This record gives sequence, structure tokens and C-alpha cells, in this order.
Amino acid sequence: MEAFPRLSKGNGVPARDPKLHWVETVEANSKIRFRCWSPAIWEVWTHYSGRTQPCFENHDLCKGGHDESTLRWYGYVFGYHEHRRGPGFVQLTVGAARLWMAQIADGVSLRGMVFDIQRGASKKGPQLLNVVHYVHNSEEQMGKDCDPQLSLFRMWHVNHLGHALKLSLVSGPADIPEGLSDDGCLKTHTGALSSKEGKRASRGKSTSRKPNRKREPA
Ligand SMILES: [Zn+2]
Repeated sequence: MEAFPRLSKGNGVPARDPKLHWVETVEANSKIRFRCWSPAIWEVWTHYSGRTQPCFENHDLCKGGHDESTLRWYGYVFGYHEHRRGPGFVQLTVGAARLWMAQIADGVSLRGMVFDIQRGASKKGPQLLNVVHYVHNSEEQMGKDCDPQLSLFRMWHVNHLGHALKLSLVSGPADIPEGLSDDGCLKTHTGALSSKEGKRASRGKSTSRKPNRKREPA
């Protein structure tokens, strides 16, 4: 029997650099309990066309150019991975972030919350997130929040020198951009919407460009 559920293929990072941490992507058929140390979700944009590439703050750096049709949203929080018995990040889909925000008061700190996150048998299936403890731990029992950039660059095999991800902060449902499907794609590019929904989605998209609160690296 494995000591902890099988983790993502080859994206673990060695613990030598204190800023590099495991990024848990919650594979099919796994369930993870996680103790959140981040006060809010780190919002990260990526491009996906066969493999995930970061969307940089400077779009000139986006590999193959900044293409809105391949944009994908992910959320990350740092904390304690109870199955790995150590610190790390967990990657959240839009659907999981929405589920989380629906279970808590708007704008409340996520720091100290414990949640279960799981995915069913399908690799692309939805993530389910369930808060199991809302009460904050005492500060001594928690580590500091951590900026996910270095760990993500490592996971994506990207040379990060001088590059900055497009990062924002999510601490309530209003901070999650509108017009996204639960797996993080812009609905206007899936072609699956009615014209009414499509209009709403494109409005949402433009409001999502409003500068979210910027976040200082931890
Ligand atoms: Zn981009």
C-alpha cells in the first residue's frame, strides 16, 4: 500500500530550495486532505495546447504568443498536505474554487481552513472540494504563505529567470473571473454556449480584466 495517494506524473520538486514545493494536481481517483496556510487563492493563468505553459504578465513571453483561446485558469494555495505529511501547493480548478467560496463567508481568510479535495475516476472529471474545518489554527501551528511561481515554473519545466506570472488574489466569489467553465476555459471559445450565454460570458471576460488586487510575493 502506498503511503499517500499517487501524485501527478513527474511534477514533484525536490525540497532542496525552500521556495520549491510539491504541487498537488489531484489526479483521478484520489482524495487529499489539505490544511491551507494561504489567506487567499493565488490566481494563475496558463495556456494549454497539448501541454500547459504559463501566461506571463508580459504577454510577449507567452510561448507561441498570447492566445485567448488557449487560456486556462488555475488557483493555488499553499499549506500542509496531510497525506504527504509536508508543505506543498494544491492546484484548484475554477469549479473547486467556486465550491470553496460557496461554503464560506465572502472575503474571509482561508488561512487555517482544512478541506478535502477529490476527483472521480475520470482524469478530466470535476474536482470536488469540501471544507471540513473552518476554524483557524493557532498561528504557531502554521507555516507562512508561499508564492507559487518558482514551484510552478519547475513543474512546467520553464526557465523562470526574469519572468513573472500573471498573478492575482482570490478571496471571494467576485474575484473568480466570470465566463469560465468549471475546468478553467473561457466559455466563448468552447462554442457550446447559447448566444445569450455567450454575450454574458464575453461581458464577464472584459470585467475579468479589471486589475484584481495585486499581491506582494511572500
Ligand atoms: Zn499569455
